[in-house]
Amino acid sequence: MNKKNTLQTTPDKDGYFGKYGGQIIPPQLKPIFDDINEAYTKIIADSDFQNEYQELLKNYVGRPSPLYFAKNLTEKLGGAKIYLKREDLNHTGAHKINHCLGEALLAKKMGKKKLLAETGAGQHGVALATAAAIVGIDCEIHMGEIDIVKQAPNVIRMKLLGAKVVPVSSGGKCLKDAVDSAFAAFVKDPQNIFFGIGSVVGPHPYPMMIRNFQSVVGREAKEQILQVENKLPDFLLACVGGGSNAIGLFHEFLDDKVKMIGVESSGKSFKPGEHAATLTLGSPGEIHGMFTYLLQNDKGEPLPVHSIASGLDYPGIGPIHADLKDKNRVEYTTVNDQEALVAFQELSKVEGIIPALESAHAIAYVIKFAPKLDKDKIIIVNLSGRGDKDIDFVAKQLNLT
Ligand SMILES: *Cc1c(COP(=O)(O)O)cnc(C)c1O
Repeated sequence: MNKKNTLQTTPDKDGYFGKYGGQIIPPQLKPIFDDINEAYTKIIADSDFQNEYQELLKNYVGRPSPLYFAKNLTEKLGGAKIYLKREDLNHTGAHKINHCLGEALLAKKMGKKKLLAETGAGQHGVALATAAAIVGIDCEIHMGEIDIVKQAPNVIRMKLLGAKVVPVSSGGKCLKDAVDSAFAAFVKDPQNIFFGIGSVVGPHPYPMMIRNFQSVVGREAKEQILQVENKLPDFLLACVGGGSNAIGLFHEFLDDKVKMIGVESSGKSFKPGEHAATLTLGSPGEIHGMFTYLLQNDKGEPLPVHSIASGLDYPGIGPIHADLKDKNRVEYTTVNDQEALVAFQELSKVEGIIPALESAHAIAYVIKFAPKLDKDKIIIVNLSGRGDKDIDFVAKQLNLT
């Protein structure tokens, strides 16, 4: 099915992008995921679905998001021209709403009764609960008890949006345990529940579906940059957790002469447990129903991970990125907690834009990188989200209170 000579790949019939991806799930669940794949293929080609989805992206999310020339930052750094793709201006403040709306609409059209997911810091939970509210479908979010206490405002948001928040008291009471709990709940009634995965990860067809929903970011960015600069950018930059905002920007440009850089979190250090630099330091293995790079011990179990940005705190990575790394199409690099914190403040002061701590990783890299380039070069950075959610945490780090 792939067009010849394109890197905008469709997975093979088993869900593999090159060596990565697949459906590593219990055999009794295979029909469920195959059914989603079939429904997805049919439904997204349907004009009713497209009309509804495009209408929501335009008038509910506020798309197209602006492509903003960061003049002050560009002048201060004195190198390449820096453009920011403003996903922070979307309703709910980040790119996640793009795919959550797609999933909610698909679930509804498939006749599912409920959207179900886990959440760590609550960003995915809030985006999914929002999509469920507007589309009109029940929503259940599993969250570790420790995270519930730490992220109280997001718990309140989800409840206000009409979602049921299920506290998880097993294990370490954090994201990993919430994943297990949500998956167990899904397996009890997979006919009626749609599992709302939060990034380009998980078993086929999720990486492909989420990528396709997010690829609107790059399609818009291409049109916008051609309009103002009359040429393609030289570089694309995005932070990488599971990889959805990055591939969302990259996908449309994969066959063009544009260099792409994904920025992972090197956290506190490169020691195991202190970072989330999956593609930089991980190795191929299995996690969450897919074959991909992960940070693992010698038994193949995922290692603990850390990042100052909770959205980057994931030991795996979307299989499309694993494939693009092996093909040397995208370069993956790292930024640490301290650099991200400095970039968070820098963008706030210089441009009046408070970025999400996740997005601050991409900003930190552009701060190091842009000054080395000529002034006629163009960089587009995906500003995946806004930093309102992070200000209490940052205030404590910087003793601002
Ligand atoms: C969740 C999140 C991320 C990380 O997820 P990806 O799937 O890697 O994009 C990045 N930025 C923001 C603002 C997020 O909320």
